[in-house]
Amino acid sequence: MAVPKRKTSPSRRGMRRSHDALRVEAFNECSNCGELKRPHHVCDACGHYNGREIVAVGA
Ligand SMILES: [Zn+2]
Repeated sequence: MAVPKRKTSPSRRGMRRSHDALRVEAFNECSNCGELKRPHHVCDACGHYNGREIVAVGA
């Protein structure tokens, strides 16, 4: 079995993990209802996109 020749130092480990952080999900306010929504997505709360109702929501 292949085995690493040297122990990975805390510094090297930190450098490797510098790319591992999760990013905050982007969000905008819906221009119709003011609810938070994801950019370029139909609003979950009111079903509007680009000023029009695309999906009927609720009963
Ligand atoms: Zn909305």
